[in-house]
Amino acid sequence: MIKGKVVIITGASSGIGEATARLLARKGAKVVLGARREDKLKSIAEEIGKEGGQAVYQVLDVTRQSDNDDIVTFAKTSFGGVDAIFLNAGLMPSSPVSALKTDEWHKMVDVNIKGVLNGVAAVLPTFIEQKSGHLIATSSVAGLKAYPNSAVYGGTKWFLRDFMEVLRMESAMEGTNIRTATIYPAAINTELLDTITDKQVSEAMHGLYAKFGISPDRIADVVAFALDLPEDTTVNEFTVGPANQPW
Ligand code: NDP
Repeated sequence: MIKGKVVIITGASSGIGEATARLLARKGAKVVLGARREDKLKSIAEEIGKEGGQAVYQVLDVTRQSDNDDIVTFAKTSFGGVDAIFLNAGLMPSSPVSALKTDEWHKMVDVNIKGVLNGVAAVLPTFIEQKSGHLIATSSVAGLKAYPNSAVYGGTKWFLRDFMEVLRMESAMEGTNIRTATIYPAAINTELLDTITDKQVSEAMHGLYAKFGISPDRIADVVAFALDLPEDTTVNEFTVGPANQPW
């Protein structure tokens, strides 16, 4: 059941996070939006409210542990608890390794890996105590296979596959009933390509997305499906992409 669930969404200011926030709110969830761009969060939350949904927002930089802790507290004070977190914030400045864009490598590690760890660390004590909770993360098809120009981005997403699976196994072993779902999207039309600074890679990716890209609403549907599953069931992996993309 989605109705009434309190769901924190990181990276809720655009793309997949925004689409998911809007859909879950329409289905009766109480959504807590986090990202860095406050103007975007504010207008999305206001629009959700106008449509009769319940949404609050808080500025969040996932690379800061304190911001992650604060948004969990904010969810509890706003809506009385936390049932799920969608660990979705991420960036993809793809480039060949030989370009040595080391600042971008580190940024991807900070947001795509450490940002997720910070979110998990913030919410897990609550989930353990209440013996329930749902952790949903956005990996990528680049977390399942190797792609040129995606050595570091793909690495951050491969990390999620291992981490989320071990988390699921340990929770089952520890009897805390925490569920996980890791989503592996292919080409989804969002602002993600804006983070690519390598001209050639950017052009190639824009071409690919122009040909194949589908709406982030499709990923929102998957998140909603995962959240809707009965408490005794976990579907822990979803690979989702355009039907005509041979990813
Ligand atoms: P967008 O660029 O539209 O969304 C990325 C979101 O992450 C934004 O809301 C951005 O908000 C947020 N974000 C980035 N850095 C931080 C930070 N330090 N702290 C908090 N929030 C941050 O792209 P998508 O919707 O596509 O990306 C969502 C996820 O989906 C990412 O993890 C991405 O890797 C993954 N993905 C996307 C695919 C695609 O084809 N689009 C395919 C596979 C995976 P703000 O700038 O306001 O902080």
